[in-house]
Amino acid sequence: MSETRALYEQVILDHNKNPRNFRDMKDATKHVEGFNPLCGDHFTVYVKLDGNTISDVAFKGSGCAISKASASVMTTELKGKTREEAQAVFKRFHLMVTSPVDETVDEDALGKLQVFSGVREYPVRIKCATLAWHALMAALENKQELVTTEEQ
Ligand code: ZN
Repeated sequence: MSETRALYEQVILDHNKNPRNFRDMKDATKHVEGFNPLCGDHFTVYVKLDGNTISDVAFKGSGCAISKASASVMTTELKGKTREEAQAVFKRFHLMVTSPVDETVDEDALGKLQVFSGVREYPVRIKCATLAWHALMAALENKQELVTTEEQ
């Protein structure tokens, strides 16, 4: 394991153990439930909008280390961003976790999110890593209240 990879693992383990913004939100503008039946990850993502800006974002629920850490890092990265900025960050994140393993990622554009670049090597984990994001994007678009990674 490379040093970088070891560091990334550390960050993921830390966010899994001590998730940030792990709470419910009574005055949320919108909340959306995300469910990944393949792994059993199940979270509710809360978002509070101040005009077009995400003034608060939080999540609750349970899931594997990747899904929980991804939700946690997401909340720290997106608080204070506008709806459009958040959608742009998600696009970059999604592109990274779904791009071929040998493709280099734009680390500067991704910031802290690059700790999830290793997910590319485990395609089944992509749904874990993007679950909370899909839920938040649905919340920002004022879409349905339940997002699942599988067709029902
Ligand atoms: Zn999972």
